[in-house]
Amino acid sequence: MKFFKNKYMLIPLFVSILSVFLIVISNVYYKNNNYVNYSKFQNDIASKKISKVYLTNSPNITVKLKNGTTYITDNPRNLIFKETLLNSGIEVSEQAPVYVIDVIPTITLALSVLTLIAVFIKSSKLTSKKVFAVDNLNADEVKDINVNFENVAGNEEAKENVKDVIDFLKSPEKYYSYGARMPKGIILYGEPGTGKTLLAKAVAGEANVPFYAMSGSDFVQVYVGVGASRIRQLFKKARLHGRAVIFIDEIDAIGKKRDGGKSGGSEERDQTLNALLTEMSGFNEKQGIVIIAATNRLDILDSALLRPGRFDRHIEVTLPDISARKKILTLHMKNKPINNIDLDDLARKTAYFSGAKLENLVNEAAILACKENSKYIENIHFEKAFSIVIAGHEKINRDYISINDKKITAYHEVGHSIVSLKLLPEEKISKVTIIPSTKGAGGYTLSVPQDKMYQNKDYIIKRIMVLLGGRAAEEIIFGKKNVTTGAYNDLKQSTNMITNMITKYGMGTSLGLLNIDELYEINYSVSNLVIEECKTTVENLYNKTKDLLLENRDLLEDFTNTLLENETMYDDDIKKLLQKQS
Ligand code: ADP
Ligand code: ZN
Repeated sequence: MKFFKNKYMLIPLFVSILSVFLIVISNVYYKNNNYVNYSKFQNDIASKKISKVYLTNSPNITVKLKNGTTYITDNPRNLIFKETLLNSGIEVSEQAPVYVIDVIPTITLALSVLTLIAVFIKSSKLTSKKVFAVDNLNADEVKDINVNFENVAGNEEAKENVKDVIDFLKSPEKYYSYGARMPKGIILYGEPGTGKTLLAKAVAGEANVPFYAMSGSDFVQVYVGVGASRIRQLFKKARLHGRAVIFIDEIDAIGKKRDGGKSGGSEERDQTLNALLTEMSGFNEKQGIVIIAATNRLDILDSALLRPGRFDRHIEVTLPDISARKKILTLHMKNKPINNIDLDDLARKTAYFSGAKLENLVNEAAILACKENSKYIENIHFEKAFSIVIAGHEKINRDYISINDKKITAYHEVGHSIVSLKLLPEEKISKVTIIPSTKGAGGYTLSVPQDKMYQNKDYIIKRIMVLLGGRAAEEIIFGKKNVTTGAYNDLKQSTNMITNMITKYGMGTSLGLLNIDELYEINYSVSNLVIEECKTTVENLYNKTKDLLLENRDLLEDFTNTLLENETMYDDDIKKLLQKQS
């Protein structure tokens, strides 16, 4: 048993054993040495030497003489024995005599046993407390986080998105006096190893507040209620300090969409989630506590988590593009004896590597150089490390997305961009990238639609053509036989827009101004007619889109090559490219 490891526990244990020993010894010793036979006792009665007899139910009686000595003799178990004694003027006590020599060990025995029990209860309470207490578990509180924005390379957009939160953490009163409500919760989402934890730490580091970190899986444990209790402990601890960043990694472990209570342990998860939501609504803006949660996927989270006042700011942390990879590599090469490295080449080769993997690459190269006792870490070490890191990773295909796949993605995305630039020049393309994100399979094009109360037919048609631009570019470059599944989402969206135009907005011919839902009410079937019209419409638009791209073939090639080189292009880069063209 564990508590005997505490050596002070041996003292009461030893005392109690000694006491028992003493009691036994004294009894045995006393009985053996003070026994007097019954006839002598009768003589003593006759000669009136006895002052008192202790008469109990035991086989022996104790006799006290007038001179103070005592002895034991047999109990005659005679009904008139007591009367005989009393008639002879002897005091009779029906209680056993009390000896000091017996009393002391009895008291020490009692005391030491009590001590043992008390300590045992206390120690068992301690261990059960440990299960619940965050302190003794994994909520690492880090006060001197020596991580700040300098340690996070790339991820510029994500950094930009948390700047105001840092300012808020520095002086929450200021924001409060303006009546500004800061987000209580931020969700960072993106692939593993992209630096979500790092960014959360950097927020705390920049704001110079304590950082509390736990993982969602720590909350979902064996016992129901433990998770909820841990959440409360975590917040209690953070609140003691006032301003703080609370980081919960793998929030999906507690915040997954509820699936109708099918899976086991969901009760525990719900309790934990509810505790989290309650705690979040429990503190006010003045306190300056921000909760940052991380997940690989935003779409699997329970919508209760994402509502305003909860985790209402969602920041994507993407895989680094080529320039970000260069920065991350440079950062991790700092303070290492690097010599003769072609950094540009390395950055180019590491497409689709996460920040964690780049860090791993540099580390492997350093280990190899060290093993060889090489003076510097050189290109050759990186070459070898590269194969190690690639091989050690399951998703080889993903990392080695062949040059061809990259090219397809690039042409596809540029196809969207060019159609958008030509047909909707007033809409800004904020970003084109071939780095996959949780939003789009291969890459994605982010354009900012203008706010309008109504969308007219012309605008809807142009947007449909932008959606078709990806597939059209693929077909132009690689031929009809080689088109890919990359257009899946585009086609879903364009189909939806076309059918709405024709069946709901009165912009087609087969139904005219009729609304399809109302027609179904009267059981009037129109589907074949409508499908025919949708098909010809989309075919016409697709051909128009291809023509548009063919007219701009030079731009298509130039744009694609630039994108392949840079992996990500922003508004400015696109403008520059267009100027060069004209
Ligand atoms: P995540 O939480 O997204 O899974 P981490 O923050 O744990 O990723 O990243 C693991 C490690 O990878 C970091 O400690 C850091 O060394 C490295 N890393 C990841 N992203 C970056 C980055 N943008 N800049 C510098 N290092 C990075
Ligand atoms: Zn597309």
